[in-house]
Parts: sequence; C-alpha cells; structure tokens
Amino acid sequence: MSLSLNKNPMPEQEPKVRAKNFAEVSLGYTEELAKAEAARCLQCKAAPCRKGCPVQVDIPAFIKEVKEGNMDVAIAKIKEVNSLPAVCGRVCPQEEQCEKYCVLAKRGEAVGIGRLERYVADTARNKGESIAAIDYAPDAQKVAVIGSGPAGLAVAGDLAKKGYKVTIFEALHLPGGVLMYGIPEFRLPKDEVVQVEINNLRKLGVEIVVNAVIGSTFTVDELMEEEGFDAVFIGTGAGLPYFMGVPGENLNGVYSANEFLTRCNLMKAYRFPECGTPIHVGKKVAVVGGGNVAMDGARTALRLGADRSYIVYRRSEAELPARLEEIHHAKEEGIDFQFLTAPTAVIGNKDGWVTGLQCVRMELGEPDASGRRRPIEIPNSEFVLEVDTVIIAIGQGPNPLVQSTTKGLDTNKKGNIAAHEETGVTSKPGVFAGGDIVTGAATVILAMGAGKKAAAAIDSYLQEKKAK
Ligand code: FAD
Ligand code: SF4
Ligand code: SF4
Repeated sequence: MSLSLNKNPMPEQEPKVRAKNFAEVSLGYTEELAKAEAARCLQCKAAPCRKGCPVQVDIPAFIKEVKEGNMDVAIAKIKEVNSLPAVCGRVCPQEEQCEKYCVLAKRGEAVGIGRLERYVADTARNKGESIAAIDYAPDAQKVAVIGSGPAGLAVAGDLAKKGYKVTIFEALHLPGGVLMYGIPEFRLPKDEVVQVEINNLRKLGVEIVVNAVIGSTFTVDELMEEEGFDAVFIGTGAGLPYFMGVPGENLNGVYSANEFLTRCNLMKAYRFPECGTPIHVGKKVAVVGGGNVAMDGARTALRLGADRSYIVYRRSEAELPARLEEIHHAKEEGIDFQFLTAPTAVIGNKDGWVTGLQCVRMELGEPDASGRRRPIEIPNSEFVLEVDTVIIAIGQGPNPLVQSTTKGLDTNKKGNIAAHEETGVTSKPGVFAGGDIVTGAATVILAMGAGKKAAAAIDSYLQEKKAK
C-alpha cells in the first residue's frame, strides 16, 4: 500500500458561509478519516515528533491506539501530560511544534497530529467523562491560583488530583483566560470545549471565584497571611495591549484587539441587543499586526458585517507569525492582506471618528535582533487606507497589578515576573508563577506546560512545609 503524501483533509464550513457566522470553522475528523490519518503514522522508534511538543505527548503511542480503535487508551496516553487536548489539538501551532519534526514532512505533509489529538479529545468528551470529586483530608493544604488561563487551569487540576484544596481567583466574570476572552468561538467553541474542561475541575472540587481582582480584592500577602493559603500560583497572563504611538490612536473607532475580541467573545457582542454589549465595526476595518491575534480580529470583523477587512503588516507574508492554518483560513474568507505596510497615523473626521489609516510601504533590509529582516520605509510611499475601524494587534505586555502590590516579588525589565523555568519558583517564598506572565505572550501549550511544572514544584514545597 502506498503512503499518501498529504494529510486527510478535515471537513470545514465553506468559506463564504462561515465568514458570516460564528460557528466553528473546522468540523473535525470522522472515525473513518481519523483511522485513515492514523494509518499514515510510521510509528518511528525515535519519534522525532515528540521533541517538537513542549510537553512531549507520546504521539506514536496515542496514534497507534486511534488506528486500533482503542479510544479510552488513546485519551489516557495524551492526558498523562496534556490536560487540555481538545484545546491544543485546535490551537497549537503544530507546524512549528510536533508536526515540524514528523519524518513525513520531509517528503510531503506531516501526520495530522493536532487533528488526531482533537479527534481523540472530542470523542472522549462526547462520550462523557466521569469525574469523581476528590475526598479531601480534613487538614488538606490550601493553594490559591491567580488567573484561570491554561497555566492556572493546569496547576489547579494537577494539585486538586494530589489532594490540595485549590481556589482559583479570576478577575473576569468567566474563567478560561484567553481561551474565553481572546480566541474566537469559530476557532475554539466556548460552551462545548472550554467550559466543559473548567466544569471538570469544579467536579474535582476546585473552587473558582470570579470577579476577584488580586491586588485589589485581596493582595497576595493577604491571601497567605490572612486567608490561610499555604502557597500561591500566579498565572495572570499578558493582557495589557501595546499601542503604536502614532497620532490619532485615541479616535472613536480605534480598538485594542484585546478590547475588540473581549467584547465579542466574552460579552457576546455579536448577539447584541440580546446580549447587552454593543460593538461598532462599520464597513471597512483595518487590523494592524500579523499574529494570531490579528487574524482573529480581522476574521471577527468580517463576521460582524464588515465588507472589507484588511491585515496591515509591516513585513512580508513569509514573516507572518500567525499559525499557517489561520492565515490559510483568513485568505479563503477574503481577508485583504496589505504586506510591507506600516501605519503612520489614524485619520478622523471633525466628530472624532476614524475615516482612514495613513500608511507607508516598506521593504525588507538586513535581519534585526529577532533574526527577521528589518522593515525599512520606502520614501514617498505614503497612502491612506479608507476605513471606519482600526484594531491594533501588535502585541501584549504583562498584567501589572499583582507585581505592583506584592512585597518581595521580583520582575524583569519588561515587567514579567522572574520565575525559574523548570519550577516556577519566584523570589517570594511560597509564591510560584508561570505562563505568559513569566514568558511574555506565548502559546497555550507552553502556558499549560509551565503550570504542570509549577504544580509539581508546589507539591514538593508543601510536602516539605508539612514535614517541618
Ligand atoms: P491567560 O490565558 O492570559 O490567562 C490569564 C488570566 O488571568 C486571565 O483570565 C485574566 O483575566 C486573569 N488575571 C489577570 N490579572 C488578574 C488579577 N490581578 N487577578 C485575578 N485574575 C487576573 N496560543 C496558541 O497556542 N494558539 C493560538 O491560536 C493562540 N491564539 C491566540 C489568540 C489571541 C486573540 C490571544 C490573545 C492569544 C492567543 N494565543 C494563542 C496565546 C495563548 O492564548 C496564551 O499564550 C495563553 O492563553 C497564556 O495562558 P496564561 O494562562 O498564561 O494566561
Ligand atoms: Fe502537538 Fe500541541 Fe499536541 Fe503537543 S500538545 S502533540 S504540540 S498538538
Ligand atoms: Fe508518526 Fe511522524 Fe511521529 Fe514518525 S515522526 S511517529 S510518522 S507522527
């Protein structure tokens, strides 16, 4: 039997149809497709794919179980190291991680590892996992987790399973971090996937307190000294949007991607007035940036009714940092990419509303410190893109509140918490940190992996503390 050089395609909504709705774009493999894709895996002894996965999922082992139809074993194998496979199967940048190292990628397309992981996780979830509540010891030690993104969720799950009483404090009104407020419904369904994972934690006995802003509601010191927590994990993420610093950024119709996506995902503005939060997009929208956040902004704008949605990116297509699948889907949906283009001002009318984005064209020079070729302005290339809305998606920095209100917690010069890479140990005894608040904006699987490492370190710390 000859091996197909291409992945089995995953069924998807038609681009023209999906660009007008918020339902998930990719529909997932059927059993037949999953088995056919699993059959492409060569079961390599050295499993080079594993070294590309930040948490080292045993990829050939779970794929073998898919091929043989042993789905209970397949999900157990994945969950040994990955507590959020339905999420990672959907949003990991696989082409830069596991699939990059698949031997098949040398001659054709890698095995669809992410697609198979998603299939296994969805199958397990649809079957209904039975989760037994933990029987806590009366003297169980207490751990506070600040932030409910993938880092916080991973810490909470691992520590609850070890018998610690875990309370998650989340500033927003729903838990999930970027999985809820950032990544759109059409890439990651909220009720069907994210909230199911969170409810599984609740079933274990994890308490989740929402609308609790640590640094304001309680400080970290109060949690430890007055509220009786034996250890604290900080996973507050990178939610502070950067702006360009060009004239006109304060005009009506300019959003940070963070605000735009939060209104849409968390507040469900696309269901206004049924849901109370409105959102204004107008007919033409420019999104500045080239990462996943920018793609999400541009594709969301289309779904909200924009006729034209531009991506304005100062480098070329080859440098786009977004996942390949998102770029591909964005193109299919008709997003207009303005490459080698940099904004110089936002232009408005006399009433203070956006009417355009003034830009210049760029060319690429020598590589800069990031290794990517530096964009250089082409003289006299100025032009105006007529738009009603501008969304800025050029990156996010660390949420600063916890750092500024916690005694003895060291940060680096970007304001990220200084924590040990392998353990999450910070400068403050009993306080651990991980995810984007430590690394800067990164990925779901890296945040989740950091949470798992910190959970192991917190367990050791608390065992020692108890033995004293
Ligand atoms: P977060 O997910 O940011 O969660 C932090 C939580 O802490 C938030 O809920 C926040 O409200 C809460 N918090 C903050 N301060 C406080 C406080 N003082 N008190 C209480 N709670 C607080 N990664 C991928 O791998 N693939 C993708 O496709 C992808 N797409 C993305 C799209 C968007 C729009 C964004 C914004 C990010 C995307 N990422 C993607 C990145 C990924 O989501 C993050 O790297 C990951 O969520 C970081 O996890 P975290 O747990 O560190 O923080
Ligand atoms: Fe690949 Fe992400 Fe799954 Fe690891 S967790 S195997 S990187 S899809
Ligand atoms: Fe299978 Fe590719 Fe991993 Fe080999 S490298 S075990 S073919 S997924």
